[in-house]
This record gives sequence, C-alpha cells and structure tokens, in this order.
Amino acid sequence: MSRVTERDLLPWTQAAFDAFFISQGRQAHAYLLAGHSGLGKTVFAEHLAKTLLCQESDQKACGQCQSCRLFESGSHPDLHVLQSEKRTIDFADLFATYAPRYLEDESKRNKRKKPSAVIAIDQVRDVVPDINTRPHLSNCRIIILNAAEDLNINAANSLLKSLEEPPSDSFFLLISHDPGRLLPTLRSRCNRIDFRLPEKQQALDWLNSQLPGVPNTADLLDSAAGIPLRALALAGGEESADNSQVTDVMLQLANRQIDPVSAASELIKKSELADILTAVQVLISRIIRIKFASGNPLSAKNNCDRVLLDCGKRLNFKQLYAFLDIVSNTKQLAGGPLDDTLALEDNLISWQNLFS
Ligand SMILES: [Zn+2]
Repeated sequence: MSRVTERDLLPWTQAAFDAFFISQGRQAHAYLLAGHSGLGKTVFAEHLAKTLLCQESDQKACGQCQSCRLFESGSHPDLHVLQSEKRTIDFADLFATYAPRYLEDESKRNKRKKPSAVIAIDQVRDVVPDINTRPHLSNCRIIILNAAEDLNINAANSLLKSLEEPPSDSFFLLISHDPGRLLPTLRSRCNRIDFRLPEKQQALDWLNSQLPGVPNTADLLDSAAGIPLRALALAGGEESADNSQVTDVMLQLANRQIDPVSAASELIKKSELADILTAVQVLISRIIRIKFASGNPLSAKNNCDRVLLDCGKRLNFKQLYAFLDIVSNTKQLAGGPLDDTLALEDNLISWQNLFS
C-alpha cells in the first residue's frame, strides 16, 4: 500500500470536507473529529490542516507553494501536533514527524519501562507560547490533538483555557476515536464533525480500488465490521503488534502451553492494560463472528480464521459473552488503583479455566 494512496481523502469524508469550507464564514476555532478508528479522521485532519495552511488555494491544498512543500516534508512551522509517545512510535505517519517537538527528550523517555500513552500537561504547556505569537509562514496555525482522549485530566483542563479564548488565527483539531471519554466541557467547546460508517457499496468500491484483483473483499469488509481502513489492514496482514501478540498468547493459554502468570507479565511489559484488553475484546468478538458464520461452508477461509474457529468450537456462545463481560469490567477499572498485572492475570486465568 503506497503512502500516496493511503493519504488521499477518503471518499465518504469528502462531503464533510467540502462542507467545512462552504461554512467558512462562520468557522469556529476548535473542531472535534469524532468517530470510530478506521474511518479516515486522521487523513481528514491532515488534508484540512494542509488546506488551511496553503498560501495559494482556499479549498484544496495546491501542493506547490512553500507551505504545502514544508507541510509534506514534516517541517511546517505553523503545524503543531500533540500526541502520545506511544502513538508516535506505533504509527509512522506524517503526524509522527511533527509530534517529537512536544515530547519529552530521550533521556527522560528512556527512564520509563514502556512508551507513555498519554498527552501530558507539559506538552500542552509547551505549545501555548507557540500559539500566542504570529504564524510564521501561513495565515493561520493549526494545533492537532491526536487523540484527544489521550489527554490526561490535567492536560485536558489546561487545554480548556486555550479553547476558551483561542487566538483568532488558530485552529484546534481534536481527533477522537472515543469521544464519550472526553471531558464534556472539552466537547462542548468544539464544533463536532462526525465520522460514520460509509454505505456498504461505497466502502466496497473504495476497498476494491485499493486491492485490485483481490477476491472476497466483501468478506474482508464484514470481518472488519464494515470499517474500511480496518478491512484494508486485514488484507495486508497489518494486524497491530499488540493484537497479534495477544492472539498468540490467548491461543497458547487455551492449549495450556503457557501459564497465565507469565503470560500476563510478558504482555504488560510491552503495552498498557487498557490496550491489551482492547485487543482481547477484538479477538473474542472475532472468534464469536467466525463461530457464528461457521455454518456457512464458505467461511473460515484463511489459516488464522481456522485456528480461531477451532478455538471457538471448544466453547459455547454463553461462555464467550460471559468472558467478554469480564474483560470489559476490568477495562473500566484500568487506570485506577488496580494492579495492572494482577488484573490481567485474573482475566487470563478466567480464560484458561474455560478450557479445562
Ligand atoms: Zn499550497
């Protein structure tokens, strides 16, 4: 998958993009791009920022001017990106080239056992002086928060102050995959742009254009719950490192090839509890779907699906849903006083016990 193709504005977001510029007369200064991960919000934010900064054109970045060229090279002085260290490591995209400016320096980061998954108050404080001077090159400056739910409470409160009285030449773009987790006061200060699942045919047309010659794109889209970018990732085998490690561990537990205590300590070394549990939820949902579809002889086509189906066959739906409940209960407590490793251990023990 080439970066250029990946970075085209996704067709189901075009209308919202056009609407943004039609309503330019009453433009707000803070926008919340809200919706499920995999619907094109990040690409949308990239295009929006580039267009707002462009020195030549009002509704579509020209790609030629100094602003556009600097933007693409990762060094536009009026684009400010706040995101967590973890996101910066996990996604090698354009924003990852801008984010380090506001991340802690290496010596501090190296002291942590694993990359921080939050946007901290220091990052917000560091960006504030930069937005209170005049833009360097373009007519405005853009501050992107990716993702807004990564802001910890202090950082969110600090950001609120800037959102209350934003400099007139600034645009805040808050990307959120989970807007329900944001402070209501933060949400209410933003104009909201909602990203929803595209029509199936539109998603399929796009997926086919990205995967020429690949059969069964409709099945891929189904496996991805209709989320086009997730379907594309599935096709490329681009399952995240988190997800594939969690899948391996859960299958080994089911086959008693590993014990829950060492499994938990291995997983927690590399990821946050909430991320691990999300990967577990994705896996169990997938097992449920594959098990559900297994009556159809055409389903369970690839190797991974077959392994998951074998695992799913050893349990009934009631057990699978009960386990999902356990995981989501633990996830709600994650980040609290709970000991992450012990909590994960408990969940993994429950899982292994299903296979006794
Ligand atoms: Zn331009």
